[in-house]
Amino acid sequence: MNKRGHVLNALLLAVGLGFVLEPGVDVDTARKVAQITVPIVLGALFPDVDTAFGKHRKTLHSLPVLAVVSAYPIVFDNLHFVWVGVVTHYLLDLLGSRRGIALFHPLSDNEFSLPFGVTTSSKYADLVTVIITALEIAAFWAVTTYVVSLDVDLSSATAGFGL
Ligand SMILES: [Zn+2]
Repeated sequence: MNKRGHVLNALLLAVGLGFVLEPGVDVDTARKVAQITVPIVLGALFPDVDTAFGKHRKTLHSLPVLAVVSAYPIVFDNLHFVWVGVVTHYLLDLLGSRRGIALFHPLSDNEFSLPFGVTTSSKYADLVTVIITALEIAAFWAVTTYVVSLDVDLSSATAGFGL
């Protein structure tokens, strides 16, 4: 998937997740969307940094990298929601390319891809991106509702501003 596809996916995903985490059409929903949009877009752009540093589709397209990014909110209480962008980047690359990504780099350079999906150049690429995004929002909703809350409370962060 190209940069345009990743950003489109991340923006739509952030809006969708904003409504999942703060249902309704009010200030809280808008604030939630604002809270998560930039981190998710940054996360979605991060893996392709390996076009310049390391080996593309290997160095920053692996589960160990995802584990590190996912650990930041827990260990350092920062980079919240960046992992969502990284996950969705991997999913789009798995679906949106023939070549695949090296999920187990540096242990193995084998590249994985899913047998279905469309290439970036396909005229259906945007449509598939939107469909994938919708499925991701549904999956996120299911996890948040039935398994574990993936939300990050804003109240402590904004208390100091008197909001
Ligand atoms: Zn990529």
